Formats: sequence, C-alpha cells, structure tokens
Amino acid sequence: MSTDIIDTKELHKIDPVFGQGSFDNHEQIVFCNDKDTGLKAIIGIHNTVLGPALGGTRMWNYSSEWDALNDVLRLSRGMTFKSAITGLDLGGGKAVIIGDAKAQKTPELMLKFGEFVHSLGGKYITAEDVGMKTSDMDLVRTVTPHVTGISEANGGSGNPSPITAYGVYMGMKAAAKYTYGTEDLQGKVIYVQGIGNVGESLVEHLSKEGAKVVISDINQERLEEVRDKYGVKIYEGKNLYSEEMDIYAPCALGATVNDDTIGQFKAKVIAGAANNQLAVEQKHGKALREKGIVWAPDFLINAGGIINVYAELVKYDRAEIIRKTENIYNTTLEILKNADVNDITTYQAAFNIAQARIDARKNEK
Ligand code: NAD
Repeated sequence: MSTDIIDTKELHKIDPVFGQGSFDNHEQIVFCNDKDTGLKAIIGIHNTVLGPALGGTRMWNYSSEWDALNDVLRLSRGMTFKSAITGLDLGGGKAVIIGDAKAQKTPELMLKFGEFVHSLGGKYITAEDVGMKTSDMDLVRTVTPHVTGISEANGGSGNPSPITAYGVYMGMKAAAKYTYGTEDLQGKVIYVQGIGNVGESLVEHLSKEGAKVVISDINQERLEEVRDKYGVKIYEGKNLYSEEMDIYAPCALGATVNDDTIGQFKAKVIAGAANNQLAVEQKHGKALREKGIVWAPDFLINAGGIINVYAELVKYDRAEIIRKTENIYNTTLEILKNADVNDITTYQAAFNIAQARIDARKNEK
C-alpha cells in the first residue's frame, strides 16, 4: 500500500485514524498532551519487525491537527523503509510536536516530551528533525536514554545533518552517473531548495566540486549567509520548479513532486534530502518515469543521518559510518538500473528491497 497526501479538509468524512490514506498498518500511535507546558505531540510507530522504531522529532506549525497526524504517519512509515534498505536493525517511527519551534519550544516542553518518549520503554527512540537541535536532544537525554543525536560532549554523535548531506551527495552523484554518464557534477546547474542543516552542507559539497548552485529558502537571512559563504546564487524567481536546471535537490519539506509541479520540471534528475518528496508515491513515481526524470529515492539517499545515530546505539565507528554512507552511491545506482530492467518506478524498486528484508525477518521469527 502507498501512503498518499490527502486533502485534510475532507478527513472528517472518513475514519479519522485507521481509515485515512496515510495509515499503513502502523503499530502504535501515541497522542501526547500536557496542559502546563502546552505540549501537543504525536508519536507514530510504524513497524518494529527489524528493531526499535527510530526517527526524529519534527516541530512544525501545522495548520491543523490532521496535518500533523498525516505527517507523522507518512514520516514514520518512511523511516521503516529507510532503515530496512540501509541494512540497519531498526524499525520506523517519528514524532511531531505541534507548534512554532522558534516561539513555542521551551526546555519544559522538551522535557515533558522526553517523558512521553520514556514511557514507551525504548520501543520508540527519538532524534532531531526539522525544528530541533542537538541541544534539544541533550535535554531529552536527561529524562530518557531513548534518544540519539545528542552532542559529542554528552557522549553522542552530534548533529547528523552533515552525514545526511554526504549521503545525499553520493546518491546525487550516482543519479548523475546513470543519467549523464558521469558522476562529475562540475558545471551542472543544481537548485537546492531549503538550505537548513542538510541543505547548507550539501551546498558545500556541490560548490567544492564546481557545480553551478542556485539556492532557495523562505529565510532571507540564511540565503544571504549561505550565498556569502559559498559564493552561490540566490534564486530570485517565483516558481523554481519550471526553471532550466540539471538537478533539483529538494531539501526543505516533502511533497514537492505533486500534480502541480510534475508537468513543469525541466530537471533530468531529482535528488535531495527531504523526506516524502512524492506527494503520492505510486502516481508521481510513475509520472516521473514517463517524463524520463530520474528520481533518486529519498529514503535511500538521505539515510546518512540514521546511519550516524544508529552507531550511537551500537558502536560509534566513524570510518564504518563513512563507508556505509558512501555505499549509498552503489545502492542508488543498482536501484536505478533495477527499475529500468523491470520497468518499474525507482520508488518501487527501492521499496521492494526494503520490504523483502522486513518480510524475511518476520519469517525468521
Ligand atoms: P532544517 O529545519 O535545518 O532546514 C529546513 C530549511 O528549509 C529551513 O532553512 C527552512 O527555512 C527551509 N524551508 C522551509 N520551507 C521552505 C520552502 N517552502 N521553500 C524553501 N525553503 C523552505 O531541516 P534539515 O535538518 O536541513 O532537514 C531538511 C529536510 O531533510 C527535511 O525534510 C528533513 O526531514 C530531511 N532529513 C533531514 C535529516 C537530517 O539529518 N537533518 C535526515 C534525513 C532527512
């Protein structure tokens, strides 16, 4: 089954949780509320066949609780397949906190959230996502051991974003090799949408290699900072999707490959860090294939961060983390070829491998 973006205004017409389009046999969904701190959070545990459900916490000013639920269901499911395809013994989970991280995130709120995570006894392990910092995870660590991505000073692996960006860079190079016959990105016009933690680090790799990088973000200050640091160009137009480019790198939020944008893309390759880039996985995966656009599956190429935080749980070996992250290049190339041979979408090719690993483990039990 695929999880689809749904019109949340229509949700009241269907069963609100188990009946909605993004629900995909999730094992557990936990609604967390605390009046004193104003915490409203949802923890989604999609699947724990391969291990505890690990996935970051996102704090976002959702327009409705439905949007938040829809997001956590999609994100937690994505984590299941990300860990499965990367060969990690982890299940898929994710959490969302409803609110503006800049204005509403307080230490008390984070501690209360940590207590909810702790109450799950390790079935869900948290980490950073959008709106979170390493220091937030350090705070959570004071109330539960079930957290990763904590600072090096506190015995953790620090911010996972640079490793995520490195993996995305590897996946992008593989997609370039497949599409253009060379992994060399020099001279390629690459639009990076969202220059936060991961986006900036990706820009660094790309500009070092001599790509023609164009950046876009909703935060003007960040744009100027990253432009000045790496000498890249700020996108000044109104509709990035229809611009002439070689590679589109979505590094902000998901679902930017959708009914509106799909007809506009001129890029031959889409490879970025954002989770859930395809609004409707099967439909938009197929549409990209028909248009001849090579999509490097997001849950495959943005796995560097989870490789890094997973190592906190087992044994932190930097060389092994880099080796596994660099292997994203080989896996991406294999999956792109496999999709062609079998005439399926790159999404399906990646999904099949991940699902097969979960099924095999289930059968062993
Ligand atoms: P971040 O919050 O540091 O950065 C996100 C950036 O996107 C911000 O600068 C924000 O202003 C910008 N943004 C938001 N909406 C935008 C829009 N409509 N157009 C342009 N820019 C917009 O987050 P991050 O940690 O860099 O993560 C980026 C994406 O990668 C997210 O989808 C996240 O889930 C995914 N991801 C991150 C990691 C990680 O290790 N941090 C790992 C895997 C996946």
